[in-house]
Amino acid sequence: MKINRISVWAVELPLSKPYWLSGGRLKFEKLDATFVRLDTDAGVSGWGEGTPWGNTYLPAHGPGVRAGIETLASAVLGRDPRKLEHVERAMDLELPGHLYAKAPIDMACWDIAGKAAGQSIADMLGGRYEDGTPIASSISTGAPSDMLALVDEYRALGYRAHSVKVGADTELDIERIRFLEQNRKPGEIILYDVNRAWTRAQAITVMNAVADLGVTFEQPCETLDDLAAIRPLTRSPISVDERLETLGDMTRIARDGLAEVVNIKLNRVGGLTKARRIRDVALSHGVQCYVMATGGSVLADTEAGHLAQSIPPEMRLATWSCQEMLSVDVAPGRGSRNHNGDLTVADAPGLGVEPDLGALGEPVAIYEV
Ligand code: MG
Repeated sequence: MKINRISVWAVELPLSKPYWLSGGRLKFEKLDATFVRLDTDAGVSGWGEGTPWGNTYLPAHGPGVRAGIETLASAVLGRDPRKLEHVERAMDLELPGHLYAKAPIDMACWDIAGKAAGQSIADMLGGRYEDGTPIASSISTGAPSDMLALVDEYRALGYRAHSVKVGADTELDIERIRFLEQNRKPGEIILYDVNRAWTRAQAITVMNAVADLGVTFEQPCETLDDLAAIRPLTRSPISVDERLETLGDMTRIARDGLAEVVNIKLNRVGGLTKARRIRDVALSHGVQCYVMATGGSVLADTEAGHLAQSIPPEMRLATWSCQEMLSVDVAPGRGSRNHNGDLTVADAPGLGVEPDLGALGEPVAIYEV
């Protein structure tokens, strides 16, 4: 089986309402999504999606995904998509780095490999645990009462996990955290996500001020060096999100004990082939995992759902359903969706969902053998 055509679509995905994070420093109103279909000479096709969370969140942007695919196309065409690590190596040799541009091609190869094997991606990743994965809401930074109102909206949809965005001034952050913890329901997970916004001093101030609550902070400062520096000065559990990009980052986090939790974002780490190694290192060191898309449609959420459901329930914290923040749906009613707060993946071969071609418009590029 050989890849003989790569088709690329650019699709604007508007958010239902504007979204702020990192203490209101970053605002988002729409996402620039890239969809990719790989066709093969065996008649099997696979779908991938690459949707960065805007262009200010990470070193990634929509036009970069498409430029990367243009550069990678000649290295991917003619390859057997089921040989996932051969495709990965060919892409890494053709274009070092640029993980977010490789992820949609990797995703489409997993879709094809699963279809060819008659197995879901979760089963290809080692085996699907039957229970669904809790979905974490994404609570935009604001006044404490407004944030609780948003948490309540998600509770009405069945959500039991919340990623609450903090990282503004430290007094207000302490107030937000104490207020939300007072209003936390039994069994609910609340992760306080700083998205790198605090200085080392701010992180130490807030984390120590609420240390009695035992809550987990995600990416409180910018770098892994920052986390290593604040580590001995605080005692709250830490999750690494934005600064987990490579397997080397994960081995450092594990070896140096920088975090108890990691957030594996598929587009950021370069797709499932690289993410499963990160998963394995995390699990073998007792580090719990969130697994999420960086953003995007039901396709991106479904990919994350497959990896999440390959992780034992006690080590798997939550995923995300970005699709619920969008005002468009490229595959209405299909793929992994919210079922009373859980995201479940189907047992169908491969990814298990394809977009409606009518929702994508005309391809912006086609590369062929
Ligand atoms: Mg985060």
